[in-house]
Amino acid sequence: MSLSAKRPSQFKVFRRRDIDSIPQLAALPASERNAMKVVSAVLPFRVNNYVLDELIDWSNIPDDPIYRLTFPHRDMLGDDDFRRMESLLATNPPPAAVEAAAREIQGRLNPHPAGQLEFNVPMLDGQPVRGLQHKYRETVLLFPTQGQTCHAYCTYCFRWPQFVGLDDLKFASNEVDEFVRYIQAHPEVTSVLLTGGDPMVMRTGLLRRYIEPLLALPQVASIRVGTKSMAYWPFRFLDDADADDLLRLFEQVVRAGKNLAFMAHYSHPRELATTAAKEALARVLSTGATVRCQAPLIRHVNDRAEVWEDMWRTQVRAGAVPYYMFIERDTGARHYFEVPLVRAHEIFRDAYARVSGLARTVRGPSMSATPGKVVIDGTPEIMGTKVFALRFTQARDPAWVGRPFFARFDPRATWLDHLRPAFGEKEFFFEPSLERMKYSRENPLKPRTRLSLIDEVGVA
Ligand SMILES: *Cc1c(COP(=O)(O)O)cnc(C)c1O
Repeated sequence: MSLSAKRPSQFKVFRRRDIDSIPQLAALPASERNAMKVVSAVLPFRVNNYVLDELIDWSNIPDDPIYRLTFPHRDMLGDDDFRRMESLLATNPPPAAVEAAAREIQGRLNPHPAGQLEFNVPMLDGQPVRGLQHKYRETVLLFPTQGQTCHAYCTYCFRWPQFVGLDDLKFASNEVDEFVRYIQAHPEVTSVLLTGGDPMVMRTGLLRRYIEPLLALPQVASIRVGTKSMAYWPFRFLDDADADDLLRLFEQVVRAGKNLAFMAHYSHPRELATTAAKEALARVLSTGATVRCQAPLIRHVNDRAEVWEDMWRTQVRAGAVPYYMFIERDTGARHYFEVPLVRAHEIFRDAYARVSGLARTVRGPSMSATPGKVVIDGTPEIMGTKVFALRFTQARDPAWVGRPFFARFDPRATWLDHLRPAFGEKEFFFEPSLERMKYSRENPLKPRTRLSLIDEVGVA
């Protein structure tokens, strides 16, 4: 791996059908490449020349964290599913047969965790507004139609169903007008978060069409962009044909008196270590934008305290702000990536204890679940009972925020819906009101399943 700023003149993408033409894979056994083809028939795969040439350490395959982060691995599918898809592919089947088998397996990977259709659909003039999500009072999420892909895919991505075509994201053709009207109808909204996919896959001119109308709205104090582009394609901010124009757009936002905040997805310190990555981050900051960093804690990728300590230090040194450590969500190949809550808290605490106060802006480990963002504060013993101490940092009802609550300790729990109240209560304090929200008039869609405590689309 070279840390010099190689300047690929062009973005080059590699998908499933290109696996045999990725030069670095030629050295691997054919069985490994075959396993990739089997898994990527079910889960999305996409990588690019920068990730291949500068991020992955090819002398450390398969354990290299960036390789695990981007390349499919056999164990991401269950044994039966893997073998079934493997034998099907060996028969040189028609694409429709592969697709049908893939759909069936995908359907069992919890592609639509409960809550998806029951919550979060904003209404305007009695009609649901597509491409918007409004979960927490101050912040609206906007999913631009053309921003629904990424420069490369993370194998743990919780938005994977949209990349394999399971979710057909149908947005209104006049979506910019609609979301502006929605925000104006909701004076409590002060922050708009563009997310995806990755909005930075859009050309500057297109991005401008979404951002400029927001500059005229006095209620909007901050415009945020959720992105992995600084890690996966830093040249977006350096050499791409419209990179300079992009930076002028950022300056324009800042001049308009808005905080422009990048919610940058960095999974591993190596993503901050290349010359291109450092230059991209510096260039974004030079426009007056701020960069806040977040990622989930993922087995095989970043499940050691030293990795987070290093990452947070590097971010602070570069002028970025550590923001969230998330818990991996309940979907896709989660069995391959998940870390027990108790272990997640240990990793967080060990890393947090070793960095200066400037890096302790970070919060976590945090679950983006149906009722809100729940942080694990620790595992104290209270009157002889070991518990999880929990707290909302964001909630559907702002009254829930900052109120400690307790769950019975369970060393195997990996998500909020594995937890039960600590002291014999029937349910957690927020559950009755959450249940009522599900049936409220605001909500156009009837609930389908019993509520499970997971959220479908958050901001990981
Ligand atoms: C995390 C999140 C936000 C933003 O929360 P902040 O704590 O303000 O960063 C907004 N909407 C959704 C759905 C989220 O998951």
